[in-house]
Amino acid sequence: MKEKIEILKGDITKQQVDAVVNAANTSLLGGGGVDGAIHRAAGPELLEETRKIGGCPTGEARVSKGYRLPAKWVIHTVGPIWRGGNSNEEELLASCYRNCFKAARELGVKTIAFPSISTGAYRFPLERATEIALEETKSFLETDRALSKVLFVCFGDEVFQTYKRIFEQVFEE
Ligand code: ADP
Repeated sequence: MKEKIEILKGDITKQQVDAVVNAANTSLLGGGGVDGAIHRAAGPELLEETRKIGGCPTGEARVSKGYRLPAKWVIHTVGPIWRGGNSNEEELLASCYRNCFKAARELGVKTIAFPSISTGAYRFPLERATEIALEETKSFLETDRALSKVLFVCFGDEVFQTYKRIFEQVFEE
């Protein structure tokens, strides 16, 4: 199972995968960070489609096409804004990963790439967010047979080093 996971440094918009996950906001109308990068790379048709979808609650996921991205699909999910830890942030972040995997299963994708959801503008503590990301991935892969590759695309060295370290903890033994 471990070998299905790849942690790399790079830009998620360049990944040759079936689906990329977007850390969107509830409007689904684009924004900064990874969301802005995905909208710029996919082109204006993406915004046309997400406008029709009409938004997404925190913790849920919605699917669009990838347009000019190498990826066929974009799975938009809305991570929680960190408010100190007593606003159900951990459960909502776990729910983002679960709903993205559920959407991936429904789409029949074999390869998927995730950014580090909620840890940029939404300020979720990186280490805890990474544990949640990798624990949810482990739980999903324990029962799933369809996914062959899960990429974690790390933007910058701190995120990359944190994923590498937490990966060893979550997947040891
Ligand atoms: P959020 O609002 O969910 O916190 P952000 O986009 O602000 O989302 O940040 C989430 C993570 O995505 C951060 O680690 C940020 O550095 C990273 N990021 C920004 N641009 C890209 C990109 N092109 N590819 C991959 N990750 C990116």
